[in-house]
Amino acid sequence: MSTPERSTVDVAVVGGSIAGCVAAIRLRQLGFEVAILDKKAMDDQSHKRLCTHFIQPHATPVLADLGLAHLAERPWSVPTKAVFVTPGGLVEGPGPYLPGEQDLSALNLERRVLDPALRAAAREHGVQYLDGTSVEQVEEDETGWTLDTTGDHGHRRFRARLVVAADGRRSRLARLLGNPTEEHPNDRAALFGYFTGVKTREDERSVFIMNDRDLACVYPLVEDRTQFVLFAEKSRVEGWHGADGRLGEFLAYFGDLPDAPPVADAVPETGLLGYADYPNQVRRPVVGSVPFVGDAALSLDPMSGIGCGFALVSGDLLARSFANRSLAGDDLAEGLAEYRRRFEEVLLPHAEGIIRDALVDKDEASQQRTFRIICDNPALSQKYLALTGRMVLPGEFKRDLMRALMTRGSAGRGR
Ligand SMILES: Cc1cc2nc3c(=O)[nH]c(=O)nc-3n(C[C@H](O)[C@H](O)[C@H](O)COP(=O)(O)OP(=O)(O)OC[C@H]3O[C@@H](n4cnc5c(N)ncnc54)[C@H](O)[C@@H]3O)c2cc1C
Repeated sequence: MSTPERSTVDVAVVGGSIAGCVAAIRLRQLGFEVAILDKKAMDDQSHKRLCTHFIQPHATPVLADLGLAHLAERPWSVPTKAVFVTPGGLVEGPGPYLPGEQDLSALNLERRVLDPALRAAAREHGVQYLDGTSVEQVEEDETGWTLDTTGDHGHRRFRARLVVAADGRRSRLARLLGNPTEEHPNDRAALFGYFTGVKTREDERSVFIMNDRDLACVYPLVEDRTQFVLFAEKSRVEGWHGADGRLGEFLAYFGDLPDAPPVADAVPETGLLGYADYPNQVRRPVVGSVPFVGDAALSLDPMSGIGCGFALVSGDLLARSFANRSLAGDDLAEGLAEYRRRFEEVLLPHAEGIIRDALVDKDEASQQRTFRIICDNPALSQKYLALTGRMVLPGEFKRDLMRALMTRGSAGRGR
């Protein structure tokens, strides 16, 4: 369904990637007139390339609410579950991520599939999607917002009751509206690439190998392709020079890992992608009367594989906070307060552990002890996987870990 273009809408969503599309579709489902403004000019295949697209299981139900349940199946994605090779052994719970809960999988859902599907779903729901439209200035008055844009159509002005900031990690709206960025260091660089000719596990689990201070990941993808991802201490990869040399070093690294699949027949589909530095960023979920969703609010170490999931969930939480509410007066204030509360309860508690894990300086002996306890205890192993899948909060996992430590301590004393 295409919608006539209007420059006055109920909601203007700035940024039309994951968080923006989800917020827009879910708000449209509540009956609001919604427009997405994205600065990039896009065609049907446009998608984000700097992303390894492992979607954690807590977020996958949102796809169904967007009419995109099929993306959680082949041939669109590979439903999968994590296996961790740790200093204390293998964390590999059988069955679902969280026993007793809905049988949810993580997804290896490539952005070349997800991004166009989200934009198409937005349009089908009657959201206006305006690409090539960069929001430069926003100004609030008694009845709403004026947005000044530049781009393919020259300068244009939009009016909206509500502005949603979904403009990513470098959020211009955060700068314009004074949403401070709290930055925390990330000690690792990342490199990743796509390969054919690699024989991965029959059960299609995604393997995360903790090697020294690095994390090496092996993701099975559709069409018998494999993605290798390395989050490595910066000093390790700094010396990997030149396109060919770097690829050779990268594959040799995986080749030396006993728990990675053999790489002798791996054929690269493309060159390697990655970053040298990617600090964690935390912003407020609401500033004044503007909610922030996705990376614009929380952009954490990609090693945790949570950014796409948090973008899906935060967009969804925002719209849920406006169910049965208008965008004016007390309703607006209450909707924003509810979004802030939900964001702080559901997503923010995960930030502390992820920010800590982004540092390489850890006590290795105590890490090994902790992982031994997790590996020796099947219920705790399941909980660990559920935590990494963001299906339980860190506090719940920590309580169970403390109990296991105390039980082990008292068993040791009794001997
Ligand atoms: C190397 C790497 C690997 C990653 N791997 C994973 C992973 O395995 N799993 C996972 O869950 N996450 C991963 N992530 C994180 C994930 O890619 C992001 O969290 C996710 O893309 C955030 O989506 P978003 O919609 O919030 O923001 P973005 O995708 O950044 O989109 C922001 C949009 O806003 C638009 N925009 C910006 N400014 C303006 C403006 N002024 N006007 C109009 N439009 C504007 C941009 O054009 C863009 O389309 C990874 C990230 C990196 C860098």
